[in-house]
Amino acid sequence: MANSYLKYLVKAYEIECNGKKITPKSLADELNVSRPTAFEYLQKFVSSGLAKKIGKVYKLTEKGMKEAKRIIRNHRVIETLLYRNGVELEEACQCASKIQEIVDDDIVEKIFVSIGCPKFCPHGRVIPDVSTGH
Ligand SMILES: [Zn+2]
Repeated sequence: MANSYLKYLVKAYEIECNGKKITPKSLADELNVSRPTAFEYLQKFVSSGLAKKIGKVYKLTEKGMKEAKRIIRNHRVIETLLYRNGVELEEACQCASKIQEIVDDDIVEKIFVSIGCPKFCPHGRVIPDVSTGH
């Protein structure tokens, strides 16, 4: 799968967090893509164990949620770092969106510690914890 699948995965995760159902339609609407495209990604998630299909609805598996949280964490940690260094929030957010999928996890962890392990990003959203230690 190309890297862009992560965008779909994060969006699916957000749909679920907002208490809505993940379907080809809801995902397509959120991302402004066609329904067949959204469907294709959801099928890929199922075949790679990131989601499962129950009736007409998709649900992220533990693995899928963990992967989505990892990307969201990358985004929010980088965004916080940039914002604290004088970058406008909007710009920090855009930059974080570009880097979130390619930055190494251990780099993000080092940044996270260096900025004092913040609990929230500058938008006030929770920075998810993805530690595997427990
Ligand atoms: Zn952001």
